[in-house]
Amino acid sequence: MMVTVAGGGIAGSYLANLLSGDHDVHVLERQRPDGFRAVCAWGTSYHEMRRLLEVVDVEFDDYVLHVGKKMIIDLGQDTVDVPLMGLCTFDKRKLILDLHRRIKVFYGVEVKRSEDLRGDLVIDATGFHRVLLPRLARDYYIPTLEYLVKYREPPIDDFYVKPIKPLSGYFWYFPLGNGLAHVGAGDFYKRHMQVLDEFVSRHGGEVLSRIGRPVRITPPHMTKPFNDGSVFGVGESIGAVYPVLGEGIIPGMQSAEIFYRLLSSSRLHDYERELMDFFRPYYLAFQFIRKKIRREYRTIPDAKLLLDVFIHMKRNEQRYGMKIRLRDWLKVVRTYG
Ligand SMILES: Cc1cc2nc3c(=O)[nH]c(=O)nc-3n(C[C@H](O)[C@H](O)[C@H](O)COP(=O)(O)OP(=O)(O)OC[C@H]3O[C@@H](n4cnc5c(N)ncnc54)[C@H](O)[C@@H]3O)c2cc1C
Repeated sequence: MMVTVAGGGIAGSYLANLLSGDHDVHVLERQRPDGFRAVCAWGTSYHEMRRLLEVVDVEFDDYVLHVGKKMIIDLGQDTVDVPLMGLCTFDKRKLILDLHRRIKVFYGVEVKRSEDLRGDLVIDATGFHRVLLPRLARDYYIPTLEYLVKYREPPIDDFYVKPIKPLSGYFWYFPLGNGLAHVGAGDFYKRHMQVLDEFVSRHGGEVLSRIGRPVRITPPHMTKPFNDGSVFGVGESIGAVYPVLGEGIIPGMQSAEIFYRLLSSSRLHDYERELMDFFRPYYLAFQFIRKKIRREYRTIPDAKLLLDVFIHMKRNEQRYGMKIRLRDWLKVVRTYG
């Protein structure tokens, strides 16, 4: 088949690599390789990334920048130290550009909304923009701002996050090695810039670049349709982002993996059902976060929701790259009650 992938971010590039052995695939990417920006804090979980990349013969270890030992969650009066099980940062820009080298990519091509693209199958992998699939009636997203900072002496030597009340976002400090860090914040109520600038003015460092864009947290249960004629969505365009963390790298690649598996077994008609099954825990996590954002979360009536999120992450500790402990969860949720 001839497959056109609109968007050469992590989800589109990964899918194009999966498909390229069996199909005639090309990617249309609006950015150019020099100056290509992989807007993201570049945090992920080692074990799942390794597994996903092995399938396309890419060695994840070549891209890892920092492997965390613990993540400090700063609760203001108190801190929680979360032991890590593979949470790391990696050079996402280099990985994406290396994935591009193995396929056909046309750079500097901006796909327009509703454009009729050539191909038996067309993939909307344009992330937040969702250029080819129908617009969403209700979309939830967190505005973010992130700096790349160079430190002579880094203020923190591992992962550090500080939630923003009422759990409507958080500040992050993700080490990238060699004195570099992604320092950023996102908040539904748009107070993130203030939080970020406070940190930067307190800890100094040379700000090398600034970037910001919203992250979609609307889960796949609310981003249907996933396909429109010959167009199918993968990645953030269909809400493959874990809402509690704003984490979209692994979920985007997992949605691509599901698409590839179903296409290979001539079962694309099952795409919607499989996505709904796979991303069901994301819907529950979204409900929890939405309640927190709206300040509607109640300890007793909503305990089941909190427990659902906890159990999902606890069962998938290695996937999330961190030790999940109930007492940590309760402490964070109580502090931001
Ligand atoms: C500040 C920030 C920090 C984040 N940190 C993390 C993190 O640490 N870990 C994590 O897992 N997730 C993180 N996320 C979320 C994660 O980056 C995204 O969810 C993930 O990259 C989505 O992948 P994608 O390929 O679906 O979309 P994208 O990464 O958005 O890629 C879409 C691609 O399509 C291209 N494109 C867009 N429109 C067009 C068009 N019209 N025509 C042609 N090309 C187009 C873009 O240039 C881009 O290359 C973060 C997000 C932000 C904003």
